[in-house]
Amino acid sequence: MRLKDKVAIVTGGSRGIGRAICVKLANEGAKVVVNYSEKADGGEFIGSADKVVDEIISASGKAVAFEADVANRDSVYEMIDSTVRRYGRLDIMVANAGICPFSEFLEIDEELLDRVINVNLKGSFFCAQAAMKKMIEKSIQGRIIFTSSVSSVFGGELQAHYCSTKGAINQLMKSIAIAAGKYGITANAVLPGTVITDINRNELNTNPELKHYFEERTPLGNLVTPEDIANATLFFASDEASCISGATLIVDGGMSINLQ
Ligand code: NAP
Repeated sequence: MRLKDKVAIVTGGSRGIGRAICVKLANEGAKVVVNYSEKADGGEFIGSADKVVDEIISASGKAVAFEADVANRDSVYEMIDSTVRRYGRLDIMVANAGICPFSEFLEIDEELLDRVINVNLKGSFFCAQAAMKKMIEKSIQGRIIFTSSVSSVFGGELQAHYCSTKGAINQLMKSIAIAAGKYGITANAVLPGTVITDINRNELNTNPELKHYFEERTPLGNLVTPEDIANATLFFASDEASCISGATLIVDGGMSINLQ
């Protein structure tokens, strides 16, 4: 087990890529806080985060669900305090939560722009900052890992708001890697290519040609899966990556280098 005795928080752990990261880290021995943002009517959450926790516990792992809107600074700090109260430490923060409401550039209004910036960029910022403070306080040489995107490097016609936040996350990660080095804390980012999840399922299902286009451009033949992204995240969390910081790792089956 590569993460025995470690404690991890995965934001946006209830679905898609985050779910796969939670399961992967738990399978390697980490105690995992599965963060989610949605509440069912009446304030009691009955949903996918609980299913992820059940899945981990039924495989003899340890996990708990925690509701927190990453765009809300106080909620993020409460999540980190609660994690340390429960498990005694925090070793790994995976800032994964993100939204991508596809929209034409000319139709993105200020409200939508603010929402994407608040969840993707400010949420990642709050999570990294709060986690790093706690790691320093506890003298833990922790890991801060961002789920960025190939959209941090390349533009997207319907993603001007999203691409901007993902590019900023790469710069945030590099700045944190510099600030965190003297504490033995690393910061890195995984850059997924197209992975079919709730974030893009409608877009790809209603436009099979777009899906086919992505598949055809991928030299390895298939779109990458949430598990592929989880493997890269596990690598950054593991001892094998102890001297890697400030790195961006594209995981896209080669799709983004296939220009010609
Ligand atoms: P997804 O299936 O839509 O999952 C998004 C997750 O983020 C959900 O768990 C959701 O929780 C959570 N979330 C959304 N807003 C939140 C908030 N304010 N506070 C806390 N959690 C929040 O999407 P995904 O594809 O797995 O995306 C995960 C990450 O990968 C994102 O950062 C995304 O940008 C990145 N990414 C995805 C792709 C792709 O092709 N899928 C490619 C590159 C990068 P609830 O269920 O509670 O709403």
